[in-house]
Amino acid sequence: MNSLLLRGGRVIDPCHPGSGDTRDVVVRDGVIAAPQPGERHDETVDATGCVVMAGGIDLHTHIGGGKVNLARLLMAEDHRDGANPYPLPSNPLELASCGTCAPGTLATGYRYVEMGYTAAFEPAMVPSNARHAHMEMGDVPVLDHGAYVMLGSDELFLQLLAEGGPNLRNFSLIRDYTAWTIHASKAMGVKVVNPAGISAFKFNQRKLDVDEQHVRWQVTPRQVVHTLARALRELGVPHPLHIHGSNLGVAGNIQSTLETIAALEGLPAHLTHIQFHAYGTEGPKKFSSAALQLAEAVNAHPEISIDVGQIMFGQTVTASGDTMRQYAQSGLANPRKWVGADIEAMAGCGVVPFRYREQSYVNALQWVIGLEIFLSVKNPWQVVLTTDHPNGGPFTSYPHLIRLLMDRSFRDEQLAKLHPDVAANCALKSMTRELTLEEIAVMTRAGPARLLGLKDRGHLGEGAAADIAVYREDADREAMFRTPEHVFKDGIPVARAGRVIATPVGGTHFIEPGYDTAVEKTLRRHWAAHGSVNFDHVAIGKDELCRCCNGGRLLPTECFEGSGS
Ligand SMILES: [Zn+2]
Ligand SMILES: [Zn+2]
Repeated sequence: MNSLLLRGGRVIDPCHPGSGDTRDVVVRDGVIAAPQPGERHDETVDATGCVVMAGGIDLHTHIGGGKVNLARLLMAEDHRDGANPYPLPSNPLELASCGTCAPGTLATGYRYVEMGYTAAFEPAMVPSNARHAHMEMGDVPVLDHGAYVMLGSDELFLQLLAEGGPNLRNFSLIRDYTAWTIHASKAMGVKVVNPAGISAFKFNQRKLDVDEQHVRWQVTPRQVVHTLARALRELGVPHPLHIHGSNLGVAGNIQSTLETIAALEGLPAHLTHIQFHAYGTEGPKKFSSAALQLAEAVNAHPEISIDVGQIMFGQTVTASGDTMRQYAQSGLANPRKWVGADIEAMAGCGVVPFRYREQSYVNALQWVIGLEIFLSVKNPWQVVLTTDHPNGGPFTSYPHLIRLLMDRSFRDEQLAKLHPDVAANCALKSMTRELTLEEIAVMTRAGPARLLGLKDRGHLGEGAAADIAVYREDADREAMFRTPEHVFKDGIPVARAGRVIATPVGGTHFIEPGYDTAVEKTLRRHWAAHGSVNFDHVAIGKDELCRCCNGGRLLPTECFEGSGS
């Protein structure tokens, strides 16, 4: 198809003036174009009574790489319906694939697309496992994808940081190592997980506070976070450091979270699954909401963005690079089983099944904390809607979450079902804010696109990729966002009324920051001594990336002018 007219929809496009107006949207050759008088279109879609938005972008969802696959292996019950295997799909276009909290790659693509999402980003790619991560994401149909590579608990980084001394005289070497790792793994950004903590766990430390020293390297999480954030800034990487902070899930961890923000000294950063990092120690159970404290900090720091990691009640599986914290939580596994792993001493991972219960005080409070964060951060551009799939709950619960945020009476009804002490005492019960369609569009597409530096995604301006979701207006926002009427990927109709109708291959987003190749001398030495792969084979080339990703388009994203040399 060459041209498409979407007629008469209410266009919610917060990046441009006139958002919320009823108007036509024209697509020419897969790209949004200006309407021309008298133009004839190959296809016209009637969008009256519908809301038209850019395709959804999930900036933090575990969809590829080692721990996702371990989760699938561990959660055999997620791939059976009662005692029986899931029935085969009734849609002849869909290949057999199933699962909810640990869905197969194909089911991941189908379920996202049916909800109007057109891109998803894997947040925790271990450098030594990057090929596998890209192959799995390449196997996910339709969605564009990319990944953040994990740094900050790898032995070489910690060694370089320790060797740099108090003035970090080898900073440029660390910066080049960061750039090289992005280049070699074809990443879209860098994620630090429990800074230095995954490594500290291997040296038998069971916790690591922001100013506590790693016993082997004598460096602190504060130094790790600041150094990585500075490196990305100087390299001109559009997505700022993606931080999974210290002490995930620990009562009182709001302290670590505020200290982490302070450690950044004004450098931009994205704090991920922040719900798991916003806990106080008040009340009878010494576990309380610190959502308001967190929101106050985010409101005071416009350079900080967050995604929430909302929990949803029911069965899920947590899959995290944070071996230290997953080990600590493994006693709560439901069903009782877990697995941890590492490759090449570069990071780690722990997979722990979890069932969030409405009548559990802690789980009810976690649910409340997530919603309180959504409703008390003032600027929607600083908040991204996530459940940290599958850690807080599967991504298929997004429509339900959207309704909770947009519909106060529905939220209050749900709140009343929770553990009575939580329902009676939380700040949430007096929060009246209901998010608007405009704010939802920011949190689910425009905001993530901007935070990732994707200039032609997340909006419907001229020249943007024609990734579009058309939702029929419905007072029941869950029903509305569950089943969009039409979904287009690069102008191709890919879903209609909740059914996949085409499965084009998605593209791969990555960045290419510049660096001094002299760093490769250090790396070659390190690999020769410690690696199991010949250094010459470590980096993924562009042709290989394309093959890994099922022949999908390569979508390099421009870095901005870095402040470094
Ligand atoms: Zn994480
Ligand atoms: Zn995560």
